[in-house]
Amino acid sequence: MTRRSAASANLAARPRAIDAVADAIVTRCAFTDTQVWIFDLDNTLYPAECNLFAEVDTRMGEFIAKYLGVPYAHARHLQKSYYRQFGTTLAGLMRVHKMDPQKFLDYVHDIDLSVVQAAPELRAAIASLPGRKLIYTNGSRTHAERVAAKLGILEEFEDICDIIACEYVPKPEADAFDRMVRRHGVAPRQSAMFEDMPHNLEVPHALGMATVLVHSAYHDHPIQLEVERWETLPAHVHHVTRDLRGFLETLKPAA
Ligand SMILES: [Mg+2]
Repeated sequence: MTRRSAASANLAARPRAIDAVADAIVTRCAFTDTQVWIFDLDNTLYPAECNLFAEVDTRMGEFIAKYLGVPYAHARHLQKSYYRQFGTTLAGLMRVHKMDPQKFLDYVHDIDLSVVQAAPELRAAIASLPGRKLIYTNGSRTHAERVAAKLGILEEFEDICDIIACEYVPKPEADAFDRMVRRHGVAPRQSAMFEDMPHNLEVPHALGMATVLVHSAYHDHPIQLEVERWETLPAHVHHVTRDLRGFLETLKPAA
């Protein structure tokens, strides 16, 4: 068992405050004014437990090791440092090493999607939401299209806002959300943002969006371990769920 999976197993076995919070919160969903439903892709629209993003994560380390000519362990250290400091590993590589982003995106997203299962119930839950639906990702449009197509949900989305459309300015930066909002004509106060990374909900909350944290046992950022210790939700996280489909089904308009 890897160190990460051992840690996740321990956490899974322990009663967590966040579970009680999640149960309580799911009962007070309203979303009556929501006209635009905005979803992060990785570990949000597909379950983190399928470990697809772990493939991307590994390939980022491989790319950096080759690109900088450093040992893999050092590349992994840089990868995570840049992720924490700049919002994404890519942003750090561009800022610090002036790297051309396209080759990086092509390499890290060249992954085997066989672990992603079709999700017809998720598709139905998204279809039943009234209004526009967007995918907003720090990855590439190509990656988002491939994954959403494998899930069988791509057709439910009006459009995808990717890191290239945002000129490589990543979530959680305010400038990134401004670009997304302007590009897609989104009225934040009539929008909801779904994300697996809590800090990516700070700006949406400040803009007036409803925010939903889609939480899992997958951790690749210290902030995800903090979530396990929450007794109450921080102001920028309005709702939290471990089950996106189940959560969306509670929002279905009455027949
Ligand atoms: Mg994500």
